[in-house]
Amino acid sequence: MSKITSLDTYDVRFPTSRELDGSDAMNPDPDYSAAYVVVRTDQPHVAGYGLAFTIGRGNDVQKAAIDALAHHVVGLDIAEVTGDLGGFAKRLIGDSQLRWLGPEKGVMHMAIGAVVNAAWDLAARLAGKPLWRFIADMTPEQLVATIDFRYLTDALTPAEALTMLHAAAPTKAKRIAQLLEEGYPAYTTSPGWLGYTDEKMQRLAREAVAAGFRTIKLKVGLNVEDDIRRCRLAREAVGPDVAIAVDANQRWDVPHAIAWLRRLSDVQLAWVEEPTSPDDVLGHATIRRAVAPTPISTGEHTQNRVVFKQLFQANAVDLIQIDAARVGGVNENLAILLMAAKYGVRVFPHAGGVGLCELVQHLAMADFVAITGKKDDRAIEFVDHLHQHFVDPVVIRNGHYIAPQTPGFSAQMHADTLKQYSYPDGPVWCEPVDVAKAQ
Ligand SMILES: [Mg+2]
Repeated sequence: MSKITSLDTYDVRFPTSRELDGSDAMNPDPDYSAAYVVVRTDQPHVAGYGLAFTIGRGNDVQKAAIDALAHHVVGLDIAEVTGDLGGFAKRLIGDSQLRWLGPEKGVMHMAIGAVVNAAWDLAARLAGKPLWRFIADMTPEQLVATIDFRYLTDALTPAEALTMLHAAAPTKAKRIAQLLEEGYPAYTTSPGWLGYTDEKMQRLAREAVAAGFRTIKLKVGLNVEDDIRRCRLAREAVGPDVAIAVDANQRWDVPHAIAWLRRLSDVQLAWVEEPTSPDDVLGHATIRRAVAPTPISTGEHTQNRVVFKQLFQANAVDLIQIDAARVGGVNENLAILLMAAKYGVRVFPHAGGVGLCELVQHLAMADFVAITGKKDDRAIEFVDHLHQHFVDPVVIRNGHYIAPQTPGFSAQMHADTLKQYSYPDGPVWCEPVDVAKAQ
């Protein structure tokens, strides 16, 4: 019987603040980082990989939280984990001494998500399938068995989820073929970081359109006059047929958001992302009513399925972002995708960061094949940096994510990356910064 022998964690940080990549109204100088986890087994070539994304110093806390879960994982039979991914996640979430820190929110929940995702990666690798296909090939009953429906049944019951999945099942094979041929639509945030000059933003926006993207996203929220100018310049750069979304990264109070968005009303925004606190369900509903028909969204910082449930029940959002490394792993994201499908809310997965594109593409593709059957009225975020550090990096062609074929969840990093970017002792963090170049 093969066993899990260790849960190894790594503090990996990239000095992105030196170029202002990733800068927005709330996060002016992020160092994109991963609290990276490897579930090792007694078979040298069998392991599962996962990560929690942070933007720098959060890695200290995040890594410690993952380490606190080791006793739930080390020593288990591999089959015990991969054969019951629902039970595995429930045991981690149910550790009452750790649950006290949430429940099911924040650092501890993200740590659980990283470990649970590593378990799904391990299961998909052993099945010889990319994760999206591993999920798509589950029967409706197997998929529903991975989900914790506690706190959800006033919005979605297991029976309703089964009905939805059974309705989608007969046509899955057709959609798998379609996905392999067409890919899944992407949109890009690469032009829109707040620290970029107007010229750099316009150049990158034009390049995005030439590369086939049909939607770009700009960061907003520091200065309304700047936002109006940047949105107009972006429109000039991309033309009338490419959608422009904006992302305030939680910058505003509710009345502030309404006043600001009214100033942007002539831009015809595809959506406004994170106008206010991710916990403020009723605030999102108020903003949405006040600025209709401008679509409102949130989700990349939404802490768990319960808050998503309330966003749907309160008609607070037109669309959502899911994040593969925020909530408690694949299981909870499947619950969120099923609820979004029931409530008719489109999903535009959050990506960028470190490895978030690599991970979340699998969830969006599984949603298309096994749940909603829809992909052309939605898109996965794409930011073109840090992919070279992954063994199975995303492939974007003509504005579409190409479906991964390599077994697993695409979270594995190169061994050399772990060495070079390890914090604080990796060479990247020990070498003196070239200040002139960084500016
Ligand atoms: Mg965002």
